[in-house]
Amino acid sequence: MSRSYLAGLFGQGIGPSLSPELHEREGARQDLRYVYRSIELDDAQLAPERLRALLAHAVELGFDGLNITHPVKHVMTPLVDDLSPGAAAIGAINTVVIRDGSTTGHNTDVTGFAAAVRQGLPDADLDDIVLVGAGGAGTAVAHALADLGAGALHVVDTDPHRAERLLATLGPRHAGRGTTHTPDRLPALLSRASGLVNATPMGMAAHPGSPVEASLLHDRLWVADIVYRPLVTALVQSATERGCRVLTGAGMAVNQAADSFELFTGRPASRAAMVADFDEL
Ligand code: NAD
Repeated sequence: MSRSYLAGLFGQGIGPSLSPELHEREGARQDLRYVYRSIELDDAQLAPERLRALLAHAVELGFDGLNITHPVKHVMTPLVDDLSPGAAAIGAINTVVIRDGSTTGHNTDVTGFAAAVRQGLPDADLDDIVLVGAGGAGTAVAHALADLGAGALHVVDTDPHRAERLLATLGPRHAGRGTTHTPDRLPALLSRASGLVNATPMGMAAHPGSPVEASLLHDRLWVADIVYRPLVTALVQSATERGCRVLTGAGMAVNQAADSFELFTGRPASRAAMVADFDEL
């Protein structure tokens, strides 16, 4: 009889999450007994002492791991026993590995975006990158780009404080130059950039449109959009039309799940099959 695994997701508004299906399908593919439960938090459960108790219950109940999502990625970070170096650098976790009663926090948004770039944009020129959106996801993308060896990283946000805060978290992890801007600087920045990442919610059904005008895109630019609902955003569409190399948000979504699966089980995930599952879901 194969080993059994119990995993879960802490967060709010997680009903539509694809994580349970992605994990359970991969578990089934590997002949594992793998159960992944969504644990929807109510407002009272967002308090650190309640989260600490929930985490302790998960340990007692024999969970092998948890994914952590909005809005508790930061508040859970000091509650685990240990942090991976990458998670400590960014100060946010989306994965907790539970082994022998001890909890370790990881950030597979960072490793997942890095894996997506390696897989979907091999040999991409990382010398001069424009990152639009400096929220939680943008910060994970920035740390991934730093790990991949990014040169200049220009962080653009309508809120300049967010862009500055993001750069401050990077510290020595980013060896290149970091600058912050508001969107009016996009024409100048993109005219000499090698890559562009959208980490704003723009492009989602609830936030239609693109944060970057199509006329600013050129065929020397690779373009990554981390929005994955829909997969073909206005930015992905216009970048494709203008001859850019394009990475959709599926890459980050699938690879963060694959990285978490590997951390929970210690077994390699079949990433290509997980991409096919994602396309089907
Ligand atoms: P957030 O709200 O924390 O941050 C968004 C940031 O974008 C904010 O700082 C905001 O000021 C800025 N912004 C909004 N519109 C802008 C514009 N036009 N120009 C410049 N800056 C602008 O959101 P988040 O948690 O960082 O997530 C952002 C999006 O990333 C989500 O909506 C989701 O679609 C996507 N996401 C994808 C994955 C994945 O696995 N592919 C994972 C996480 C998030």
